[in-house]
Amino acid sequence: MALLDSIDRRGFLKALGSAGAVGALAPEQLLADGGQAAPAWQNWSGNQSANPANLVFASSEAALRETVQNSTGTLRAFGGSHSFSGVVPTDDTLISLEPLAGLRHQDGNLFTWGGGTRLAMASSQAWNMGHSFTNEPDINLQSLAGAIATSTHGTGTGLQSLSGQVEGLTLMLPSGESLRLTSDDGDHFLAACCSIGALGIVTDITFRHEPAYRLKEHTWTLPLREAMDFVEREKDNFRHIEFFAFPLGEQAIVKTMEITDDPQDSPPREDDNELLEMVSKLAMHAGWLTPTLQKLVTLFVEDNTYTAPSHKVFANRRTVRFNEMEYTVPAEDGIACLEEVCDTIRNQDINVFFPIEFRYVAADDRLLSMYHERAGASLSIHQYFEQDHQPLFSAVEPILRRYAGRPHWGKLHSLGHAELAELYPAFERFQAVRRELDPQGKMLNEHLGKLFV
Ligand SMILES: Cc1cc2nc3c(=O)[nH]c(=O)nc-3n(C[C@H](O)[C@H](O)[C@H](O)COP(=O)(O)OP(=O)(O)OC[C@H]3O[C@@H](n4cnc5c(N)ncnc54)[C@H](O)[C@@H]3O)c2cc1C
Repeated sequence: MALLDSIDRRGFLKALGSAGAVGALAPEQLLADGGQAAPAWQNWSGNQSANPANLVFASSEAALRETVQNSTGTLRAFGGSHSFSGVVPTDDTLISLEPLAGLRHQDGNLFTWGGGTRLAMASSQAWNMGHSFTNEPDINLQSLAGAIATSTHGTGTGLQSLSGQVEGLTLMLPSGESLRLTSDDGDHFLAACCSIGALGIVTDITFRHEPAYRLKEHTWTLPLREAMDFVEREKDNFRHIEFFAFPLGEQAIVKTMEITDDPQDSPPREDDNELLEMVSKLAMHAGWLTPTLQKLVTLFVEDNTYTAPSHKVFANRRTVRFNEMEYTVPAEDGIACLEEVCDTIRNQDINVFFPIEFRYVAADDRLLSMYHERAGASLSIHQYFEQDHQPLFSAVEPILRRYAGRPHWGKLHSLGHAELAELYPAFERFQAVRRELDPQGKMLNEHLGKLFV
């Protein structure tokens, strides 16, 4: 470490990365989009796109209702477009509620937000009003309606996903009628809290917030085996705990977050995106280097703490695009499942630089939640967006399925109706609500058709 301490470690890795990346790029890869026109809508990673006949940014509730009632064919909403699966695209009508974003109402710790409000805006405004979300995912560019549509989650064995934090919501049905739903409405409410946008358009959501709190994040590296043992042993001793596993380098980055009364903000975190992009490109073109790069990167991650208001600590800036598959397995089987996934990646010599993110989420009662009546460990498998993700995802998906894993609705998976009905105990209860609220299947695009019909 003495040598490493004496040089600019990030500069060294950047130089290595840029040498490999630039050297490996063919000239046509430097030309943007090969001259093709950009689609009207595209998701974050660029693996989903659409050119809908009717792309609407609803400017009022009345205009939204008119669009919904007059629409023909399939009707879909989009929020932050951060899903990897085909949950958004349609060639017919695609609606954004972004112009209707903002806080609608506050009553104590109950905050009602427009469905198109981004989590970043809501969590920062809630903070200014003395409140925090109970838990948040690791980025905050999702819309609130889009996030609850897929049970978007953070980490912490005692903490539920965003869908579990919902106290009420308003749903505009495909008929144009609006329903206000709370827990008094039984399955209608439990279905609407995680609906993959299959029931109608969510126009506002009431969240139960907490008094504002500050967090202290601690990140450090450990050999992979030690990280697995640490996280399994300590999972109930931290409010938030997770780790990023690098199977080929047999290393891990561990992260915990705890509430603190330390009033002093840390300086902003160092941004590693440029470095990550370069190393990802290098690993893609020179797979034989990937195990070494994974070992090196953990050498370059220093033991670090970061203290700030909760919403600032939860949110990371992710600009290096990837595609992702995520399954949630029973919490007690999480580490064993991860071990098998890592073994498979090593044994099949699969070239993947991006780490596997491992998190815990508490059980809830939302009908289609990945945590429905089952506390879960989620394994998020990433592949750099320019690299073919099929070899990786098809090698690990059978393992995740063998552990009774439930796929994250916003991420890539290959399951259809029959398999999902077995994995989600309340699947048929959800289907009953869906058939009642959308009898003509107006909300079903191609992807949702495969899930539900
Ligand atoms: C970089 C990155 C980091 C991520 N981190 C996490 C994480 O930490 N934890 C996690 O669980 N997931 C994570 N995700 C996944 C992401 O949170 C989910 O896919 C989420 O659904 C995206 O929200 P969105 O607003 O972008 O929704 P979109 O992707 O735009 O839409 C998602 C679904 O919501 C529906 N929808 C959107 N708005 C409405 C509405 N008003 N009414 C009804 N339905 C609507 C859409 O039709 C679609 O079915 C991440 C994704 C990325 C790209």
